[in-house]
Amino acid sequence: MKAVVFKKIKTFPSLEEVEKPTPGPGEVLLKVAGAGCCHSDVSVFQEYDEALAKHEHTEPSFILGHETSGWVEEVGQGVTGFKKGDAYLIYGPTGCGHCARCVAGEENYCENTATNESLAMGLGRDGGMAEYVVAPARNLVPLGDADPINAAPLADAALTPYHAIKAALPHLQGGGKYALVIGLGGLGQIAIQILSAITGATIIATDMKPEAIAKAEEKGAIGVKSDEHEVENILKITGGRGVDAAFDFVGIAPTIAAAQAAAAIGSRVTIVGIAGGKASYDWFTNSWEQELTSVYWGSLPELHEVAALYEKGLITPEIETYSMDNALDAYHKLVDGKLSKRAVVVPHMGE
Ligand code: NAD
Ligand code: ZN
Repeated sequence: MKAVVFKKIKTFPSLEEVEKPTPGPGEVLLKVAGAGCCHSDVSVFQEYDEALAKHEHTEPSFILGHETSGWVEEVGQGVTGFKKGDAYLIYGPTGCGHCARCVAGEENYCENTATNESLAMGLGRDGGMAEYVVAPARNLVPLGDADPINAAPLADAALTPYHAIKAALPHLQGGGKYALVIGLGGLGQIAIQILSAITGATIIATDMKPEAIAKAEEKGAIGVKSDEHEVENILKITGGRGVDAAFDFVGIAPTIAAAQAAAAIGSRVTIVGIAGGKASYDWFTNSWEQELTSVYWGSLPELHEVAALYEKGLITPEIETYSMDNALDAYHKLVDGKLSKRAVVVPHMGE
């Protein structure tokens, strides 16, 4: 089968012919419906060095794709309750399965990552950027009759903002609250839909790209251009008070600083973007009791909740599809910032 393989540190992935996998005990083989291209893949193939890859158990070679949906094709030994052809989302993180975090479905925060064999599907173990993928049965979230191709980005581009927003809910409860979304790409656009679906907050959205702001405005957000007046303009919208929760989907030092400056007393600022920007915090500059935190992905129960929002039409990822032969084009466009929708590779397009 064809697959997008990350073969070597600091090397662009390549399209390869590889063997179709077979499911082991407790695993399921899925025919891939959609595989989303995430900016985190770019960090992996551009920025990881040997030490980081070793630390994260993401040493090449492996098939990329940690944002996948598919149809059950075959089950491994001991797996029951699945029907061939049924559609599922794949929960990406692969923890030890038995620590306190894992049993709570928070495999993203597994306490045994040091001894696990991989970090996640498509991050250390073979992912879904292929015609077929093998996943642990417990990682499968049913999609019912909902369209599995459009659903692929839910596994990361929706799950990660969903987790960040859910954790910030105490700050957004009640009337007159404001939420700020910085960086309106794959994750940021879905964050706006999630904020509308599960909070009553007024949403303020910023990006450098006017077209990304326009898209956010179509979803009901108030757009603000990210320029030198950004913080001032955001504060003005909130009547000078600042936002109650800020979500930074870029994560460089200037965007973190803007989020902190635009956030109110007692607010929560969440760094989601994996750019490694350093933040500063001091008594004089930051609003009092302003929390600063970061998140990594989300939990399995949260992915079930995300799927429910999708089935009810409350989250609809906007995607552009690519065939397997054009999968590398999608990654090139992602690297060059040329995508205006989430790129989803559809290996069985037209079948
Ligand atoms: P994307 O490329 O689709 O979108 C990024 C957006 O940010 C673009 O619209 C771009 O114009 C905008 N942007 C870039 N620099 C900016 C700046 N200085 N000010 C304002 N806007 C700016 O990326 P994505 O796939 O949505 O991912 C976003 C980030 O989230 C990436 O860093 C990715 O690695 C990270 N991520 C984190 C997690 C996690 O678990 N924490 C999970 C998935 C992705
Ligand atoms: Zn664990």
